Amino acid sequence: AAKRDKSGVAVYDARLHERGASQLTAVTELRHAIDRGELFLHYQPKALADTGAVCGVEALARWQHPTRGLVRPDEFIPVAEENGLIEPLTRYVIDAALRQCRAWQDAGWEVPVSVNVGAACLLHAEFPGDVADLIKRHGLPARLLTLEITESAIISDPDRAVEVLRGLTELGVRLSIDDFGTGYSSISYLRSMRVHEMKLDRSFVTHMCTDAGDSAIVHALVALARNFGLQAVAEGVEDQDTWTALAEAGCDVVQGYFLSEPLPAEEVVSWLGDRAAA
Ligand code: C2E
Ligand code: CA
Ligand code: CA
Ligand code: CA
Repeated sequence: AAKRDKSGVAVYDARLHERGASQLTAVTELRHAIDRGELFLHYQPKALADTGAVCGVEALARWQHPTRGLVRPDEFIPVAEENGLIEPLTRYVIDAALRQCRAWQDAGWEVPVSVNVGAACLLHAEFPGDVADLIKRHGLPARLLTLEITESAIISDPDRAVEVLRGLTELGVRLSIDDFGTGYSSISYLRSMRVHEMKLDRSFVTHMCTDAGDSAIVHALVALARNFGLQAVAEGVEDQDTWTALAEAGCDVVQGYFLSEPLPAEEVVSWLGDRAAA
């Protein structure tokens, strides 16, 4: 990391060096965290827009770092994506989410779970087989698992992605297109792929009641979802007005801080119980 200053003298860029070192440390630590099971999941509920009935939870990865404290997924998911760790991480998250789903089922609650799937997984022919093994191991019906994928994953290599997605639908798992509309969209893939759900990104949802442009986008995306027979799910719902506007727009499912923040697994059942009693 040597570079030249204005006089042409080579100067050592300590900051860059530091960054390089911490990136390397982060990769090593993340690999260990996956191997040792130091990642854990929070679960954010989703509800039907018209009745408010809870219809599932989304698993969101968390990393309790020994010295840095709680690390956000926006920091470590990109590190995993760039360093070949997203597949083991995704398998780990699916395994943990299905184990939890089974525990809830054993306690009398059927709670469908959604898991975010890293883009690289869709380029690997073995991925559907891995998912099949995990579902079988936990003895759950495949329909209780939804995999959230991003458009960028499909667009990077459509032929391979479509093949992997076909393998996944054959298992009976549900597929959701996450962050819909934020990618370099080529919605033509909707014609050839069997997906079940479209997830509207919170960047369009949160301010739809005060921003006419956002509102127009949400209405257009919900209409698109309906025309393709997909369930429309809105994330980032932070108040009652937005929930009402989404229900009126024909959106099927809502998720966001207004319903609940992501919860630790052990709080989910009491949250469900409180809601059922309310
Ligand atoms: P995402 O899949 O779009 O998840 C939604 C994010 O918005 C979550 O952040 C969630 O906590 C947050 N959120 C939910 N409701 C609200 C709301 O009402 N208002 C606001 N402002 N935010 C809300 P989180 O948990 O930090 O996750 C960030 C991103 O990291 C996720 O975005 C997802 O892309 C990725 N991610 C998280 N867990 C995993 C994982 O296990 N695997 C993979 N591949 N990616 C993951
Ligand atoms: Ca998601
Ligand atoms: Ca996302
Ligand atoms: Ca999003």
